[in-house]
Amino acid sequence: DGPVIIVGAGHGGYQVAASLRQAGFSQRICLINDEAHLPYQRPPLSKAYIKGSAGPESLMFRPEKFYHDQTIELIAGRAVSIDRAGRKLHLASGEALPYGHLVLATGARNRLLDLPNANLPDVKYLRILDESEALRQIIPSKTRVVVIGAGFIGLEFAATARIKGLEVDVLELAPRVMARAVTVEVSEYFQARHREAGIRIHLGVQATSIEAEGGKVTGVSLSDGRHLPADLVVVGVGVLPNIELAAEAGLPVAAGIIVDEYLATADPNISAIGDCALFASPRFGGSLRLESVQNATDHARCLAARLTGDRRPYDGHPWFWSDQGEDKLQIAGLTTGYDRVVLRGDPAKKAFSAFCYHGDKLLGIESINRAGDHMFGRRLQAMDRSITPEQAADESFDLKSALA
Ligand code: FAD
Repeated sequence: DGPVIIVGAGHGGYQVAASLRQAGFSQRICLINDEAHLPYQRPPLSKAYIKGSAGPESLMFRPEKFYHDQTIELIAGRAVSIDRAGRKLHLASGEALPYGHLVLATGARNRLLDLPNANLPDVKYLRILDESEALRQIIPSKTRVVVIGAGFIGLEFAATARIKGLEVDVLELAPRVMARAVTVEVSEYFQARHREAGIRIHLGVQATSIEAEGGKVTGVSLSDGRHLPADLVVVGVGVLPNIELAAEAGLPVAAGIIVDEYLATADPNISAIGDCALFASPRFGGSLRLESVQNATDHARCLAARLTGDRRPYDGHPWFWSDQGEDKLQIAGLTTGYDRVVLRGDPAKKAFSAFCYHGDKLLGIESINRAGDHMFGRRLQAMDRSITPEQAADESFDLKSALA
């Protein structure tokens, strides 16, 4: 009972507010927003937004009128501390907001590069709209970018920068791109595609220093002794979950804010969702912290349902996508822990899926330009069904028959 105060107006925070109103919640809802924009979609920041010319409004979930009509109070500012005993959230402005329930949807922030010159203006990161806007503005005046980190965001940006006409080098410490997230088959496919587009990918190397003259970046030195010229450096070396607000309030944290299968923290009046939440997952038998739109929005819907009387454990089915140049990667399920990969389709034809198995259990499907396989995977998982590796590999096997 009482107001719901939501810290963070990203994918998760916005969705909790919208879903609460949809479910008929009639008390006060405040969305604390520390970015100077209406809540917006993050995925285009490394792709369409930099490529195109549409303004920031093209990214907004909803126009201002929506928040007004739904009486969702958007409060500009930062939450700085939680008074759990008094059930109040303190903002940097000095304001204190009483809550019945507090939602921590604080997301994650860029992991910073710890190298000399890493704070120069030509060294950029890519998490928020202002950073994407800054990159879009300076790209036309740049000729060579070194991208540090070949995860999803590094590669998406690299492909975008190449399309915009820049010379692009990508550095990756691991022996393959997106190594933590996808199978060898998918890494190799993307390495080949990015190289075909003229991007130089350097694996098994680290940036050891950024060189500059008169405050302007001139290049990057590598752990193997090489030096790459550059007038722009973009860093994509992962994120850190924003757990400090919870930790300082005495809530348990580890690699995220610890919540149970209902997304509740150790304090029954405080929940955490999205990128910042380390949640107990009976389905996957452990704790998970995921960074995806699906995870943030499905968490939000589950929590809004609980706060309006429909209490159920969170049991979302993970899915994800990444657009890199002309290729669309879609992942259904969690593919970590597989011991067998079966391909359906043909990498040479730029359309295939990697079905990942642990024994005979299908863990997930990584699809490249095969939206049908991806949707099949999501529907199959929702039905808690599987197909055999032999069926997956056999293109004459009709996937739909497994859903009947
Ligand atoms: P966020 O969206 O990060 O929102 C958290 C908000 O809380 C931020 O605005 C933050 O500033 C604010 N905040 C933090 N602390 C405070 C405080 N103390 N007071 C007030 N506000 C605070 N996912 C996909 O599934 N597919 C994609 O293709 C994809 N592409 C991406 C591309 C980029 C460039 C990025 C950065 C992410 C991408 N993601 C993608 C990941 C996805 O955007 C995130 O998983 C999602 O945004 C998580 O939502 P969230 O609400 O948990 O956190």
